[in-house]
Amino acid sequence: MDGRDYAAESFWLETCGESLVPRPELPADLSCDVAVVGAGFTGLWAAYYLLGLRPGLTVTVLEADIAGFGASGRNGGWCSAFFPWEESQLARRFGPRLARQLMAELHDAVDEVGRVAGAEGIACDFLKGGALHVALGPEHRAALREEARRVAAEPGAGPRVLDRAALAERVRIAGAIGAIEHPQCARLHPGRLVRGLARAVERRGGTIWERTRATAVEPGRPARIRTERGTITASTVVVATEAYRSQLPGRRRDLIPMTSTIVLTEPLPEAVWSAIGWAGAECLSSYRYSVDYLQRTADGRILFGGRGAPYRFGSRIPADLSRDRTTQAMLQEQARRWFPVLGEVRFTHGWAGVLGVPRDFMPSIDHDRAGGVIVAGGYVGDGVSTTNLFGRTVAELAVGESTERTGLPFVDHRSPRWEPEPLRWLGVRYMQRGLLAVDQRARRTGRPPSGRTVAERIYRH
Ligand SMILES: Cc1cc2nc3c(=O)[nH]c(=O)nc-3n(C[C@H](O)[C@H](O)[C@H](O)COP(=O)(O)OP(=O)(O)OC[C@H]3O[C@@H](n4cnc5c(N)ncnc54)[C@H](O)[C@@H]3O)c2cc1C
Repeated sequence: MDGRDYAAESFWLETCGESLVPRPELPADLSCDVAVVGAGFTGLWAAYYLLGLRPGLTVTVLEADIAGFGASGRNGGWCSAFFPWEESQLARRFGPRLARQLMAELHDAVDEVGRVAGAEGIACDFLKGGALHVALGPEHRAALREEARRVAAEPGAGPRVLDRAALAERVRIAGAIGAIEHPQCARLHPGRLVRGLARAVERRGGTIWERTRATAVEPGRPARIRTERGTITASTVVVATEAYRSQLPGRRRDLIPMTSTIVLTEPLPEAVWSAIGWAGAECLSSYRYSVDYLQRTADGRILFGGRGAPYRFGSRIPADLSRDRTTQAMLQEQARRWFPVLGEVRFTHGWAGVLGVPRDFMPSIDHDRAGGVIVAGGYVGDGVSTTNLFGRTVAELAVGESTERTGLPFVDHRSPRWEPEPLRWLGVRYMQRGLLAVDQRARRTGRPPSGRTVAERIYRH
């Protein structure tokens, strides 16, 4: 790393270690087999598997900041099999066979991340303790029952219902009345994973150019990447910039960047941990529309994340995203509501990042075969393991291999474009405010959301 204050950006970046191979200036003209824009999980997994499939290939990765600077080095560290579309929705749209196959691949991706981390010696605190979807009070009873009904139909030893007492044996959350346990989820240190993966790409022969921003991607034979320093030509260009894709020319309405914010406590004393329990370090979330997610970190802190920060007009991504003290204060208050024992405990870190949301919430890989460009992303906040599946699939597409993954429904799926401004801002802000109000009302009254507000209807649609 480079002495910059990454504590102000993300605890994970501050504590990830791992410097990459130092490189001189990018030459004015560079030619390679595959060039990747963006050194987050998507770009790095793609490079990693490409070099595994074809060890002789020349693979160049360009990163505007440092590898892992985006969502990959800032997230909640849930490595889960969750996907923004439920299996039933996928089945209705793409058929039950493909829906099942996609679910199975997502399931396997969680273990694959752990397997590669082990094989590459990446000490990223991977711990497969599952995830608990928690009903925080009577207002979530109906949602809990609904999910219990849905998961009962899942094959195999899948999710199971924990009643109030069974939940309290695992973790004691104020007022919680039960949870659904999803076993296929691990917590991890995303900073160590992403930087360790970057080193693994270098060990396999890939080159990573940090602080090198792509200014344009042009399809063609060869495809081209323009940068401030020069042009790179490649047989295949992979665009792996996720939420930042919205900042590239011609791509503004592909997806919107939504901000997710995290606050982190100091390491908690034993007395606090014995009051809370949570020995299994399960990943925790609730049924609130406005999204909350928690991790017990390996060094004994509580990470509390949520999506309260407002969407910015024109899909702007402000440089000072991590300094939004209002959202951080709201999250701290929520964390104390979950665990009143946190009382005087200090929150030592707070930061934010952006995740990419396509108009139909469907992550995708768009492969322009004639123009040699592959664009991957749009994970709607469930990307830590899905990027692994997508990276593997991108690698297979780039070398022209046809596998069980390259036929999955996210390949060549085209999401509709977002509306132009000011409609986009009006719509997204309306939804954010509406869903937050629904959560607040439900908590105040203890009654479940009616499902009849406009915001809820649009959300469910
Ligand atoms: C706060 C937060 C919490 C989250 N929590 C979870 C979680 O717990 N579990 C989960 O599954 N998912 C979570 N996510 C989502 C997950 O982190 C992302 O889906 C995933 O990291 C996306 O990886 P990526 O490589 O596609 O994108 P990114 O990690 O965003 O990488 C894109 C990279 O491209 C670079 N870049 C951008 N523009 C250019 C350019 N023009 N030229 C060169 N480089 C460029 C950026 O600097 C960045 O490093 C969270 C996201 C956020 C923001």
